[in-house]
Amino acid sequence: MARRVLVTGGAGFIGSAVVRRLVRQGREVLTYDKLTYAGNLASLAEVDNYPSHRFVKADICDGNAFREALDGFKPDLVMHLAAESHVDRSIDGPGDFIATNIVGTYTLLQEALRYWRALDAAASRRFRFHHISTDEVFGTLGDEGLFVEETPYQPNSPYSASKASSDHLVRAWFHTYGLPVVMSNCSNNYGPYHFPEKLIPLTILNALEGKPLPVYGKGENVRDWLYVDDHAAALELIATTGRLGESYNVGGSNERRNIDVVRTICAVMDRLVPDARIGMREKLISFVTDRPGHDARYAIDATKLQSELGWKAQETFETGIEKTVRWYLDNNAWWEPLKANYDRQRIGLTK
Ligand code: NAD
Repeated sequence: MARRVLVTGGAGFIGSAVVRRLVRQGREVLTYDKLTYAGNLASLAEVDNYPSHRFVKADICDGNAFREALDGFKPDLVMHLAAESHVDRSIDGPGDFIATNIVGTYTLLQEALRYWRALDAAASRRFRFHHISTDEVFGTLGDEGLFVEETPYQPNSPYSASKASSDHLVRAWFHTYGLPVVMSNCSNNYGPYHFPEKLIPLTILNALEGKPLPVYGKGENVRDWLYVDDHAAALELIATTGRLGESYNVGGSNERRNIDVVRTICAVMDRLVPDARIGMREKLISFVTDRPGHDARYAIDATKLQSELGWKAQETFETGIEKTVRWYLDNNAWWEPLKANYDRQRIGLTK
């Protein structure tokens, strides 16, 4: 069982859920994060007082910094979550996605290989590198079918293409150099500490303030939603018990059309925080120009993860969304300060 875990991107949405989970369990954790707009130390406040948690502000493209982190901390597990993660931003500025997601992952692989080769026999047998990725690498589905681990890669956005590239690099470092890697591809996450550029937190905060709720196109795109703590539990299982060189799909079998996600949030908020000035929040829904190249449907077959490693999601979409709404209602101290640098404007329209 890994005792010392280095988590890249540990100040982000999913990374911070992983770090909080691992630290609570008594593991030694080093969070390695550049703190881009998406990184937030407030998401790690819960583990501030744990001497078993350390933080280093550094870029995954900086090989020297990562080398120092590995040699100083001596992890037996690296969980790699650092990434540029927002499709709309990748449309406006793909360069950061190429740099962080591709060159950054390459840099980590080279340094991890150097570190792993220098370990003694016992430590070398223990060491693992877990690469965290997305189901968006598989492209888009029609009305039928699910993504399995063998589904051919067919990424359609600069974001998913950069993640697909990183997945291929990780697999190549396993087959060519023998680096002990394990990989996972997950569907859309939601939950606490989610930066409000993404559909669910954006909808919650706009609905709270009585602002328009933008829905791309006709809102018919389908995503397979997973509560972030269920993903964190899956990641821990995959990182520590997954078979080397294998990839695991992660998803909660919660397919929803975007319009239905937004309507569900409206209904939960009308119940939890009725506001006479706003009225029924569904009236705030506003259909806007679709995202260029918007994938129609993603859906995951997580059978391998469930049958091989025994994972099962704890939350349904209904319980997870209610928890999430409640969290945003109770934690304006986390999201209020984000308003200074982000005004929830529309981006990613190509022209
Ligand atoms: P996020 O955008 O919330 O967080 C990314 C973190 O990485 C931030 O803390 C940021 O500061 C850090 N980072 C970015 N560039 C960096 C760099 N060059 N060096 C060091 N740190 C850097 O992302 P997330 O939603 O938490 O996603 C985490 C991982 O999971 C990503 O690899 C993403 O592709 C993958 N993923 C996300 C989802 C989802 O629904 N959010 C689903 C499946 C997979």
